Amino acid sequence: MTLFARLGLPQAWQARPRYTLLMVDWSDGESFIRLWQRWKEDPCRPDRLHVVALSASLVESSVLGSRLRALTPSSLHSLVDQLVAQWPLNLPGTHRLDFEELSVTLTIAVGPLAVTMPRLAVSADAIWAGEAAAVELPKVVSSESRSPTDRMLGLAVDQKEARHAVVVGAGIAGAGVAHALALRGWRVQVLDVTSRRQQEHGAHVAAALTPMVTRDDDIRARLSRAGSLRAQARWSQVSEDILWRCGALQLQRMSGRIVDLKAVLAGLSFPPEWVRFVEASEASDIAGLQLNRGGLFFPTAARLRPERLIETLLAVEGVERLEVHVERVDRVDGQWHVLDKHGKTCAAAPQLILAGALGTQDILQRSALLEPGARLSAMHALGGEITLLPESALSGGPRCIVSGDGYVLPALEGNCVVGSSYVHGAQCMAPSIAGGLGNIERAAGLLGQSQLPAKFNNFALDPLNGWAGWRAVLPGRLPFIGPLFNTQGLWVASG
Ligand SMILES: Cc1cc2nc3c(=O)[nH]c(=O)nc-3n(C[C@H](O)[C@H](O)[C@H](O)COP(=O)(O)OP(=O)(O)OC[C@H]3O[C@@H](n4cnc5c(N)ncnc54)[C@H](O)[C@@H]3O)c2cc1C
Repeated sequence: MTLFARLGLPQAWQARPRYTLLMVDWSDGESFIRLWQRWKEDPCRPDRLHVVALSASLVESSVLGSRLRALTPSSLHSLVDQLVAQWPLNLPGTHRLDFEELSVTLTIAVGPLAVTMPRLAVSADAIWAGEAAAVELPKVVSSESRSPTDRMLGLAVDQKEARHAVVVGAGIAGAGVAHALALRGWRVQVLDVTSRRQQEHGAHVAAALTPMVTRDDDIRARLSRAGSLRAQARWSQVSEDILWRCGALQLQRMSGRIVDLKAVLAGLSFPPEWVRFVEASEASDIAGLQLNRGGLFFPTAARLRPERLIETLLAVEGVERLEVHVERVDRVDGQWHVLDKHGKTCAAAPQLILAGALGTQDILQRSALLEPGARLSAMHALGGEITLLPESALSGGPRCIVSGDGYVLPALEGNCVVGSSYVHGAQCMAPSIAGGLGNIERAAGLLGQSQLPAKFNNFALDPLNGWAGWRAVLPGRLPFIGPLFNTQGLWVASG
C-alpha cells in the first residue's frame, strides 16, 4: 500500500491548518518528494507541511540528486533540485530545510535510531514507518484538529489573532527569535532600551560565528553545530559585508589545557567540508600568514557584524520595535503584559519571549517568577573585552579567523578585532589597558610572534580602540531556551 493510502491522504490533512508527519524511515527521500508534490497540487492543502525524518546518515547531495532523478518522473525534478540545493552535510544532529517560502519544512535527525528517537520531541499528526516497518508504530495517530506548533504554544485554531508575540531584548537572541516568528507570519513587537543597546553594544564591530568540537561530541558541541548550521541556512541571504564565511582555524594550544585536536577529530568522522585537521604549513596558506602550528579548520565559519546583522533581522516585515525599559511582566486574561517602571502596560500578547540576557533574570525576579534554585537564578555576568588593532600590526591580518587561546578576526575597514578576555566578578566593564595588552599578547601568540612591536601597545591605551561587555553565563555554559516551567506562553532565550 502506498504512503498516501496508508496515511489517508489527502483527506487526512484537508481539515487541518498544518500537518506534521514523522518519517521513521527516510530511505532515499522519494516519499518526501512525492508528498511535497501532492501537497502542492492539493487546493485544500494545509498551510504548512512539516516532515520530520530520521536517518542513520546522509548521502552526498550529488548522490541524492542522481538517485531521486532516477526514481521520479521529470515533472518532479525541480523539487529534487531544490532539495539537493539545501541538502546538508553528513553531520550527526538535527538539520532543518525550508521550502515554498517556509510553508514546507523538512527536519532531518541524523544518527542511529536508538540515539535520535529518544531525543525527539515532536507532536506528529501521523507516523510513517516505511513499507516494511521495522519499528512497531501505529500507521496514523492523532486526530486533534490543532497543529503541533499550536498545541505547543497553547493556541486554539480559531485564535488566528493569537499569532502575536512580544520579545524583550533586541540582541542577537531576541532579533533571531523575532525574525523567525515574523517569517512564519507572526506579528512581533520587540522591546529594548535602544539608547542603552547602542551604548553597550555599538562598538562590538565584529564577532566570530564558529562551532566547537569535543572528544565525546557533548551537548555543547552538538548545540554549537546545530546553531551554526541553522544560522548559515537561515541567514544565507545576508550580505557578505555583514556575514562573511571566511572560515576559522582553531590552532593547537601550546599552554593551559592542551588537547590533541588531531586525535579528537579522528574519533568523530565529520566530513572535511565541515572540519578537518591541517598542519602548520596548510594553516599558514589558509590564513595567508606564517603560523607555527596546525589545528582544526572549519571552512564555513564566519565573521559577522553583530549590530548590522541585528538591524537586518529586525527589518523583516511584521516586526515592530519599541523603546521601553521593561520593569516586569504579568499575565492578565491569557495575555502577557509588559510593564514599564511606572506600571504602564507597554505591550501585551499571548506569547512573550524574554531575550534580555542578564536582564531576563531581573525581569523574572521583579515579576516574582524566578523560583529559588531554578537554573535561571544561577545566571551570572562574565565580563570581557576586545581590542581593535590596525591590520599593519598583524602583517595585514589573517584571511580567516585564527583562534586558540583567544582569537584574531580578518581585518574590517583597516582593523582586526582581537580578543577576548574573561573577567570574573567585575562590577563594571570598560576597555582597560590591562585588557587591551592581554588581547594584544594573545594575538601575537596566535600569529607566532612572541610580541608585537611596542608601538602597537599604544592601542591598548585608547579606550576607543576597544569594546567591553558582558556575557550572561548559565551553569554548564548552556543557554536557557524554551518555555519557562509552570507558565503558559512565557519563553526564555537567554544565556
Ligand atoms: C568581549 C566579548 C566578545 C565576544 N565575542 C563573541 C564572538 O566572537 N562570538 C560569539 O558568538 N559571541 C561573542 N560574545 C558573546 C556574545 O556577545 C553574546 O553571546 C551575545 O551578545 C548574547 O546575545 P543576547 O541577545 O542574548 O544578549 P544581548 O546582546 O546582551 O542583548 C540583550 C538585550 O536585552 C536588552 N534588555 C535587557 N534587559 C532589558 C529590560 N529590562 N528592558 C528592555 N530591554 C532589556 C538589552 O538592552 C540588550 O539589548 C562576546 C562577548 C563579549 C563580552
